[in-house]
Amino acid sequence: MFRQLILGIGNNRLVSHAIQQYGLRLGASRFIAGPDLGDAIHVVRQLNQVGVEATLDSLGESVDRLEKATKARDNYLHMLDVIQKRGVQSHVSLKLTMMGLELSVDEARENVRQIVARANQYGNFVRIDMEDSRFTSATLKLFEDVWGEYPHNVGVVLQAYLYRTIDDLKTLSGMGKNFRIVKGAYMEPVSVAYPSKPDVDDNYVRLVKYSLSHGNYTAVATHDEAIVGQVLRYVKRHHISSDQFEFQMLYGVKQSILQDLANEGYRTRVYVPWGRDWYAYYLRRVAERPANLLFFARNLMRR
Ligand SMILES: Cc1cc2nc3c(=O)[nH]c(=O)nc-3n(C[C@H](O)[C@H](O)[C@H](O)COP(=O)(O)OP(=O)(O)OC[C@H]3O[C@@H](n4cnc5c(N)ncnc54)[C@H](O)[C@@H]3O)c2cc1C
Repeated sequence: MFRQLILGIGNNRLVSHAIQQYGLRLGASRFIAGPDLGDAIHVVRQLNQVGVEATLDSLGESVDRLEKATKARDNYLHMLDVIQKRGVQSHVSLKLTMMGLELSVDEARENVRQIVARANQYGNFVRIDMEDSRFTSATLKLFEDVWGEYPHNVGVVLQAYLYRTIDDLKTLSGMGKNFRIVKGAYMEPVSVAYPSKPDVDDNYVRLVKYSLSHGNYTAVATHDEAIVGQVLRYVKRHHISSDQFEFQMLYGVKQSILQDLANEGYRTRVYVPWGRDWYAYYLRRVAERPANLLFFARNLMRR
């Protein structure tokens, strides 16, 4: 309910203008490394120093012209070059609508293919984020196409709130594919997604267990401590090797838990977004937790 309200209000022009103007100063910076790639590399270096890896996300989605998609592709190629040159431990994560998916599937595929080819050259890795359910089928198809050429350098995200995901996972599993499993962050109708949180949580655990037991590399991306505990018990009980999975969290959320996991020897990764186009990303973080809105509102009052 709260999520629907926030994501719905986010489409309002006046609200979006006000938040975009002041948001970074009023609290959005908690979730975003900064406006420039240099800010993000600085954060990655700090994470690496304490044994945590990263995945860099250049913020932005849904381009309305193919030239913008080409620019986004070049930005990702540059990001991979910089990661390599600076010697930091970081993958990249990207959104297909930023690569032009809504305008031309072929162009989007070619943009992603070039980015994954560059990652292959450096022994790096590209995660295709999952957006709203209008794009699920196209995203999985594009992932499979590129995976066929570069099986070690690309992975995709699966969302536990969608009814279809268990079937997608069964179809895609095998041959050591690489999945990040999340609960799901978009506004979805009850016709496609579980409306109740306990159902999403149960499905999340089911998907992680299925993925791990079918030989996929599994990125367990959640801040839910109870679920992290369940996954740890499962991998110990089933002797699943620690090089078959990792834990991921978002920059600015529950970093101490990820740090504890890293200290225990588990592979860990923080999703580090950067850039000026942070509005949609920030709204999804607010929608996940009412307290984030209160924090924002308090800062607004203090001005
Ligand atoms: C690395 C990573 C990548 C992701 N990629 C995608 C993607 O590609 N597509 C997609 O749809 N979703 C993505 N998500 C978001 C995900 O779908 C969830 O919306 C988000 O992670 C919140 O769910 P949760 O698993 O943490 O569980 P929840 O049950 O929502 O949260 C558990 C606890 O974590 C804390 N918490 C959770 N969110 C926040 C927050 N925003 N601020 C402060 N505290 C919080 C709270 O204490 C909460 O009680 C990603 C998440 C992560 C961690």
